[in-house]
Amino acid sequence: MALPVTRINENNEKDALLVTATADSIVVLSGLVKSYRLGQTIVPALRGVSLELNRGEFTAVIGASGSGKSTLLNMIGCIDEPESGSIVIDGVDVLSLDDNARSRLRNQKIGFIFQSFNLVPVLTVAENVELPLLINTTVSPAERKDRVAQALEDVGCSKFVRNLPDQLSGGQRQRVAIARALAGNPDLVLADEPTANLDSENSHRIIDLMLDLNARRKVTFLFSTHDEKLMGRVSRMVHIQDGVIKL
Ligand code: ADP
Ligand code: MG
Repeated sequence: MALPVTRINENNEKDALLVTATADSIVVLSGLVKSYRLGQTIVPALRGVSLELNRGEFTAVIGASGSGKSTLLNMIGCIDEPESGSIVIDGVDVLSLDDNARSRLRNQKIGFIFQSFNLVPVLTVAENVELPLLINTTVSPAERKDRVAQALEDVGCSKFVRNLPDQLSGGQRQRVAIARALAGNPDLVLADEPTANLDSENSHRIIDLMLDLNARRKVTFLFSTHDEKLMGRVSRMVHIQDGVIKL
């Protein structure tokens, strides 16, 4: 169910738009439409997606390759924007924000985990986890160190702080990427096929870790997968097919 959005006219763009109802929802999407242009062809990716995620939920988006999972996560993660529809995150209508305010929201509220880990190869594990915190000027250097240490401990990677990413296995690298996503203390973690490059045992371990962090840190998780074997692991599943959510 879409929530009513109250527009509060403020000069401060940060809280220009607030949702009045249920503090429980962290994400409210209504009627998202997105297509890509490929030469002369228009490729539809999302064809009217509405979805609500509650705080603390652990949700899997399941769909075949090309069904629109990455496009959907990129919309919620403020990496890309739709042609039409609305995106409300933690009470803020993100499409009404300018680029700076949107980047700030993304940095402060959202952690992103990618299929290919996306660690910076020349930085150590600790430096990789610290990187997004350097942008956030509200976090002091001392707190930064604490958060990096805590996040690496939470994912069981404390012993790798001084290693470079290519000295770690795929499963360990994905754990470091999860620590990087958590270090900013996000309300929401988006994981786009985080297990696609891992074998089955490591895939289950990464899901276990995310479920554990969801319970312990009370972080909302939305993760996508095309792997039917992982379906039974989560409490809520959303099926997407050809850019439409199937009920
Ligand atoms: P999934 O993550 O489920 O594999 P995507 O969101 O990546 O699906 O893609 C949805 C549809 O949009 C597919 O048909 C895909 O080919 C198309 N698509 C995605 N990104 C682009 C792009 N940058 N340019 C053209 N078409 C794209
Ligand atoms: Mg994808």
